[in-house]
Amino acid sequence: MKLALVSHRAFEEMHVPEVTRPWMEAFENPSRIKLTREYLKNSGLLENPDLELFECKPATREDILRVHSPYLLDVVSELSGLGYGEVGSSSFVVKDTFNAACLSAGGAILAVQQVREGEAETAFALIRPPGHHAGIGHSEGMCYFNNCAVAVRWLQEKEKVKRVLILDLDAHACDGTSQIFYSDPTVFCLSFHEYGMETIERGWLEEIGSGEGKGYNINVPLPLGTWGKTYLWAFEQIFPEIIRDYKPEFLVVSFGFDTHYSDPVGNMNLQAEDYAQLTRIILQLAKEVCKGKTTFILEGGYSLLALPLSIAAVISTILGTETKYYDKIPQPEKIPKIVKNVTEEIQNLKKQYL
Ligand SMILES: [Zn+2]
Repeated sequence: MKLALVSHRAFEEMHVPEVTRPWMEAFENPSRIKLTREYLKNSGLLENPDLELFECKPATREDILRVHSPYLLDVVSELSGLGYGEVGSSSFVVKDTFNAACLSAGGAILAVQQVREGEAETAFALIRPPGHHAGIGHSEGMCYFNNCAVAVRWLQEKEKVKRVLILDLDAHACDGTSQIFYSDPTVFCLSFHEYGMETIERGWLEEIGSGEGKGYNINVPLPLGTWGKTYLWAFEQIFPEIIRDYKPEFLVVSFGFDTHYSDPVGNMNLQAEDYAQLTRIILQLAKEVCKGKTTFILEGGYSLLALPLSIAAVISTILGTETKYYDKIPQPEKIPKIVKNVTEEIQNLKKQYL
């Protein structure tokens, strides 16, 4: 099997935002998964013989506590019991939020498990709510438990995986994931994200990890409005070298599609074809460095027009099939000076700390 697609029908019903647009929180809703699944079905990808669909089960208390504080787990659980509340900035709770968050983390675990045990070459966790803003003791930004971190700690404890590279391609910095692994050299955190909004306080170049983890956290801040060509250029300057140097046993890609130009939350200018190209590069490098062991975990992506198409681009690239891109727009060729400066700065940091 080439691809294990891990999801659950419950994601299409659970954890419904109690606010309406234009509240940002309203964008993380069941339609994201429902429309994506329909699009994958209608485009014939779900019938591909190299794809198998798996239904996940909730992560256990023990799984969540490998990453998060018991207090956070209890607060999310208790507020869900009450049916309302906010556990962190932009992290509202409704009656089934706790169950949805556990199911989402369970999906990430099942996805890495399929790849680790050799059942699938690659896995994609089609899950929600997302996870990468959730830190050890806090929920934030529509994330409750850090799905990716829960899956990585599961790999380390249950499967004795020693080194994992987390590649975060959401529009926003993976501040929660970085915090969790900040002083841990066994997990390398590499994040490409938009930068330039006053409200964004984390994801700086200088945040390189601490203690034994110094040098194992790399942020690639890119200007708002960065186009796919520029993003891919920066990606190719940085990712291949880091994965080859670090030599992880396993690669986990926290893939957010809020970098799409039509996304209402993110501020970048990527399109579906760019996601396909990123996937090609990732798979090729993973094959070279870690026997292809790669799991993709869904983070953000809130344009209901773009998200299904973007995920289809990744999945069809994994399967090696053609797909149509309905979102093609022309983009400039020139790489901005500021992006060249960022990549140079990262090369300097690498020389200094790696
Ligand atoms: Zn995001």
